[in-house]
Amino acid sequence: MIVRSVDILFRLGSERELDTKLNELVKPILKAIHTDEPDLELDQMLRTLRLVSGTDLRDVNAQCLRTEDSGALIHVGRGLYKFLHLYARCASTRLLSDRPGGSRSSPAWARSLAALASCLEWLALPLREVRFAALKVTPMQDNWATVFGNMTYRAAICHEIAHAVLGHHAIAIDGQEPEVDEHQKIFNTREREIQADELGMRLHLESLPDPDMRAIAAGTLIYNVHATSLLKLRLMALAEVVDTNRWTARVRHPVALERFAFLIANAKSRYGPEIAGLMTATHDHLETIDGETRECMVNQQGSVRDDFLELARLTPDAPGGPGSRQDELLSQSPVGVIRALDLLAADSPMVAAQLAEAMPRPVQRFVALPFADRTGRVLNRIV
Ligand SMILES: [Zn+2]
Repeated sequence: MIVRSVDILFRLGSERELDTKLNELVKPILKAIHTDEPDLELDQMLRTLRLVSGTDLRDVNAQCLRTEDSGALIHVGRGLYKFLHLYARCASTRLLSDRPGGSRSSPAWARSLAALASCLEWLALPLREVRFAALKVTPMQDNWATVFGNMTYRAAICHEIAHAVLGHHAIAIDGQEPEVDEHQKIFNTREREIQADELGMRLHLESLPDPDMRAIAAGTLIYNVHATSLLKLRLMALAEVVDTNRWTARVRHPVALERFAFLIANAKSRYGPEIAGLMTATHDHLETIDGETRECMVNQQGSVRDDFLELARLTPDAPGGPGSRQDELLSQSPVGVIRALDLLAADSPMVAAQLAEAMPRPVQRFVALPFADRTGRVLNRIV
């Protein structure tokens, strides 16, 4: 892998550095935007475009919003960077061996997979904290994951900048287009996403500090769409602990398959079959990873639920708190623990209450909510 420029290889020493880095990343992208004819409106929008990353680590969305003075604001959730890096690190343990001649799917893969599944549950629940497990990987896997994580972050930002350039922030969002029916609204949203993907791809690939980075950057367009669809698994993760009849999932992005097809076809006509081939290969690899994550999440949730119930049966008065077995199970699968507490509450409410009390406060509060109320608490953040 030849990456001459260091721009994208940055490592962060602190959360705060991310904001500086975000601005540095965006500058060359904005510079790359030019039109054949002078466009005053676009120039004005680009001059006033603001980037904000919030403070909530559970926020993993990036979106382009309209400001009060009709300008564009790109909001990048504070958790997105961390999540994309976790995803890239997991992929590195699946796709790279940990030593020359070693097997692909390195021994760290099983642990990485479990950590990714846990993280999705933490991101799904309104628990204030997110437990991002620190993954141990080899220096080579680490380098690779840093490049892919940073580049995927850049791809996500390019997609949002594309929305701004296309003027999508100015179009009334859901509920503000009275003359358009629901079906048409969904269709329009999908159209806009496909357009943003296409322009986002151009911005990402044509504003790189070094043309040698194009192949990797193209791969990370695929990473970005996979990460988005993986985040949708959060809904599935919650199925047993909320009232799913109350789901009213809004469609923000078209189905991932459609996005891949358009992206790859576009890349092929613009950058040639080699780049498109790389993107297809990346898609296949990540498809496997996503499938295994889904499976792991279901299994892990079930086994944590059973282990917690067993623990409750054997030692109902074992103290909880950091470092305890209960806390370890909670880290692995908060949904599994909540499920176990729900089951216990039906059978032996006293034991359930005692065990719940040993849990962090936000978990206690969530467990105490009726099922119907839980849905509203989680949905706003996920869709
Ligand atoms: Zn979008």
